[in-house]
Amino acid sequence: MRIVVLVKQVPGTDNVKMDPETGTMIRTARGNVINPLDENALEEAMRLKQAMEGVTVTAVSMGPPMAIKAVKEAIAMGADGGVLLSDRALAGSDTIATARALASAIKQLGDVDLILCGERATDGETGQTGPMVASMLDVPVQTYVQKLTVEDGSMIVERIVEGGFEKVKVKLPALVTVVKGINQPGFPTLAGKLRAKEVPVPVWGPAELGVAPEEVGLKGSPTRVVKIFSPKLSRETIMHQYKPGGRAVEELIQFLAGREII
Ligand SMILES: Cc1cc2nc3c(=O)[nH]c(=O)nc-3n(C[C@H](O)[C@H](O)[C@H](O)COP(=O)(O)OP(=O)(O)OC[C@H]3O[C@@H](n4cnc5c(N)ncnc54)[C@H](O)[C@@H]3O)c2cc1C
Repeated sequence: MRIVVLVKQVPGTDNVKMDPETGTMIRTARGNVINPLDENALEEAMRLKQAMEGVTVTAVSMGPPMAIKAVKEAIAMGADGGVLLSDRALAGSDTIATARALASAIKQLGDVDLILCGERATDGETGQTGPMVASMLDVPVQTYVQKLTVEDGSMIVERIVEGGFEKVKVKLPALVTVVKGINQPGFPTLAGKLRAKEVPVPVWGPAELGVAPEEVGLKGSPTRVVKIFSPKLSRETIMHQYKPGGRAVEELIQFLAGREII
């Protein structure tokens, strides 16, 4: 069985900075990490690899050249190999162009049975990429998955829904987006880190993906970020002083009720 895990490199949560001029995220080499939910996806792939015979795991990431670190980390955590999608033509991709590139990479890898990804990335946070990739590959998708087992060419998943969970059996190939609670991600081992240094990670652009340059990147993106800004929070502070032994509670209730707060 071949599993592909989609791993996105994101800024650490205390390192998210936007360029106010261009509206794009400032991505620097420092402080970037694998999207935390993608670590859960990777851990789930490792769990299946340990539980079943003949499972190979490939990590696929799209990003600037420095995103190779995310692929190498995935290999250090136990993936057999990985591919980085990085090319000037891919820059500025919105979710549909990103999904198109990722789906093309999965097609090129061939015979993929299961695609695992995070339910959302901590930076873009649209949660659209996984379902879009599934739709482009024409495979079923199960989102918000908290439990996953594979048997006889099918998977059985528990997916979180309002007020509980759904148990669904789906034929493979399929795509799954996982939630944090599915497992506790492990750490890269020293042996894994050494192996990651040795394993070559091919870097693919439009030619290797088999897509025209205008189908990806800014040209292939129907959406545009028109404006981006940090919301300004302003709070009105009102001081109330009540005389001791007076009607403080009653007056406060009257005040809040007057403003329709209670
Ligand atoms: C008009 C426009 C221009 C943009 N320009 C840029 C730009 O110049 N530079 C830039 O960095 N971003 C840019 N973005 C953001 C970029 O499109 C998103 O980061 C990307 O589409 C993924 O969406 P998301 O972050 O919401 O991921 P989600 O959909 O929330 O991610 C869900 C899961 O999908 C997988 N996934 C998502 N993205 C990747 C990836 N890149 N590689 C591997 N797996 C992935 C992961 O498993 C992840 O957990 C742009 C967006 C728009 C709308």
